Amino acid sequence: MSEDDLATRKMQFLYALRSRGVTDKRVLGAMEEIDRGPFVRGLFADRAYEDMPLPISCGQTISQPSVVGLMTQALQITPRDKVLEVGTGSGYQAAILAKLARRVYTIDRHRRLVREARDIFENLDLHTITAITGDGSHGLPDQAPFDRIIVTAAAEDPPGPLLAQLKEGGIMVLPVGQSDAVQSLIRVHKTATGLEYDELRDVRFVPLLEGLGKD
Ligand code: SAM
Repeated sequence: MSEDDLATRKMQFLYALRSRGVTDKRVLGAMEEIDRGPFVRGLFADRAYEDMPLPISCGQTISQPSVVGLMTQALQITPRDKVLEVGTGSGYQAAILAKLARRVYTIDRHRRLVREARDIFENLDLHTITAITGDGSHGLPDQAPFDRIIVTAAAEDPPGPLLAQLKEGGIMVLPVGQSDAVQSLIRVHKTATGLEYDELRDVRFVPLLEGLGKD
């Protein structure tokens, strides 16, 4: 692909984000800075700038960029925040979070995905991200509490340990619903008096599974 073609595709990519509701300037800036190209490998590399989910290793997917943007926007991240992401996948979402937050912990049940994501973070000099292999539905008790939590795989209900590890005043964004149906993207605010929920839109994510993956 020529330099000009690449620049045009990147411009169209940012235009698609804006036209699908990603309007927060900091989020758009982070998504302009983090090139999706290195996170999409092999056969699908050519489609990295299209607004669609794409296959990655371990039978998983890198999420649709506009959904990544909308979820990031809904988190209302500030530069002092410590963020937990459950579902590292390609590492793309974590890289964007790293441009907005002080510290990012990201966890995936597939060792291979964590290894590949770590390599990309290293190449991009993203040194504020810690990528960990584990079952993220238990959260990361050693590093809790978190100002923000994002889950990029769908559970039937928000996992209790994640709600417990969210700071008071914190925000969690996650898809909830059955894995074979349309799910709801919800935002949870933890206040002094309890949890407040709002529904953002319909989405489709792979399921949040128990335990570690085989690879
Ligand atoms: N955020 C990713 C990105 O930017 O590429 C996309 C995530 S992909 C849609 C969902 C990921 O959640 C998969 O990589 C899958 O292995 C992971 N996952 C599913 N259940 C999990 C669990 N219990 N703990 C940690 N990761 C899990």
